[in-house]
Amino acid sequence: MSAVVQSINPAAEEELTDGFHLIIDALKLNGLNTIYGVPGIPITDFGRMAQAEGIRVLSFRHEQAAGYAASIAGFLTKKPGVCLTVSAPGFLNGLTALAHATTNCFPMILISGSSEREIVDLQQGDYEEMDQLAIAKPLCKAAFRVLHAQDIGIGLARAIRAAVSGRPGGVYLDLPAKLFGQVMNAEAGKKSLVKVIDAAPAQIPAPDSVKRALDVLKSAKKPLIILGKGAAYAQADEAIKNFVEKSGVPFLPMSMGKGLLPDTHPQCAGAARSTVLKDSDVVMLIGARLNWLLSHGKGKTWGDAPKKFIQIDIEPREMDSNVEIVAPVVGDIGSCVTAMLNAMGNSWSAPSADWTKAVQTKRDDNVAKMAPKLMNNNSPMDYHGALGVLRTIVKERPDAILVNEGANTLDLARGIIDMYKPRKRIDVGTWGIMGIGMGYCIAAAVETGKPVLAVEGDSAFGFSGMEVETICRYNLPVCVVVFNNDGIYRGTDVNPTGGADVAPTVFVKGARYDKMMEAFGGVGVNATSPDELKRAVNAAMDSGKPTLINAVLDPAAGSESGRIGNLNPQSALKKKK
Ligand code: ADP
Ligand code: MG
Repeated sequence: MSAVVQSINPAAEEELTDGFHLIIDALKLNGLNTIYGVPGIPITDFGRMAQAEGIRVLSFRHEQAAGYAASIAGFLTKKPGVCLTVSAPGFLNGLTALAHATTNCFPMILISGSSEREIVDLQQGDYEEMDQLAIAKPLCKAAFRVLHAQDIGIGLARAIRAAVSGRPGGVYLDLPAKLFGQVMNAEAGKKSLVKVIDAAPAQIPAPDSVKRALDVLKSAKKPLIILGKGAAYAQADEAIKNFVEKSGVPFLPMSMGKGLLPDTHPQCAGAARSTVLKDSDVVMLIGARLNWLLSHGKGKTWGDAPKKFIQIDIEPREMDSNVEIVAPVVGDIGSCVTAMLNAMGNSWSAPSADWTKAVQTKRDDNVAKMAPKLMNNNSPMDYHGALGVLRTIVKERPDAILVNEGANTLDLARGIIDMYKPRKRIDVGTWGIMGIGMGYCIAAAVETGKPVLAVEGDSAFGFSGMEVETICRYNLPVCVVVFNNDGIYRGTDVNPTGGADVAPTVFVKGARYDKMMEAFGGVGVNATSPDELKRAVNAAMDSGKPTLINAVLDPAAGSESGRIGNLNPQSALKKKK
């Protein structure tokens, strides 16, 4: 066994192992074969040894990007994505991603090296001193520290179970520097490891909850199904498709739920969103929360008509979090949807054609209204011209993974680019954060082996832009399109004082992000029209070479905060002036 280190006393003939090898063996035993991280004290040697033992170790330029990569690896695979960082500042950089994973219900384990407990606890000023466990706790689903080599197996088992069972989330695992070098008997060490059996056990819904939900759905005149990213995560694609089709109910995909059924499916109500939210009388949520992204299930968005909610979720406490749920179905989505499908029987009748036709008509009208805008070949580009060609490219390449972040770039791409397969669209998620871009690209390419297309606002790209070096270093099939409108929201703001500084939302005019990719040996293209953009993206997707396309947009294209400008407080005084 390669985890054996030389005996300190050859005469004793005792085979020994150490903390380094036990952690590596424990990860491998549980099929965790990829680590996203940034090397440094005290985990540099650990990364080297992990690579030597066959784990894929991907080094990033910043822990936050590595953490976002691990979080989305968790979403895509249902196994915890592993992020490895150094102590204090590295740990804190990774923590943002861990909190993000927890908020989004993605399984992830952040493993950070930490300084000497004795010194940290007496606050005597150790190198990178920080009580990391205490800081992590409120920001993740669970946090553990391992002090002894013989507890590594149990420690990792606890971390895995906490990350993937029930509602998935982020777990922090604190490994003090001293642990890595601790030596123990190799045989005892091997025995101490735990292969986690059935880490995310099926959670079967109670039969009466299934019956109640079907009764409510049956009573509906204008039913609606909302598919969230929990439904995509569950990997119950066939059951969900069969259930939705058998029900005949229009469905609305949340951003990362897109593609479970194609956006072009006859029952898809994506382009009739406001109508179905307003007019529906029964709404069935599958792996979607009634948070801000759904206006909390009440108010203007939802109209005046009384509504009944059915909700399928693995987390019982999610029920009634914003409005009353008349039919909660608690369990894993695969088991719940299968149980509902079975209980529907053969005599299920689809909702009235009045409703389904009305939804379809609204949808088709909206799609038709949009169509001419998507065909413009303006230079500099506007959002619709640029997204029109990307929409066609994704249609022709439905296996590619689409990464999307920005403000206008996000809102418009989400609506315009149709998805055809599950888990192909990954984006800013529950927080609507910027900075996930390059980390998501790297993990998507590594975990799926599929080509990746990133559609990035210029501002959003800046948060993780240095990771283009990482993309080039690992030669990943990633094509990044930067929608460059010279600024945040738009590039046309002016400094009202007339001073030398530009306005806070403005970037360097005419910046050439494509040169960044060229600096590291990738392909850079400056695209000034939709035609040029189309050629460049197709070439990148065909070649699989790391590519960055600087898509030159009109600086006046775009609106404040995209579609969520209403969340931005505005000064009443400013308006009066
Ligand atoms: P969206 O933003 O797409 O609406 P959310 O992140 O708000 O999605 O909701 C996802 C929901 O899915 C969470 O409430 C989570 O508990 C739930 N969930 C995640 N995985 C599963 C699963 N395997 N089975 C059941 N529910 C799940
Ligand atoms: Mg911009």
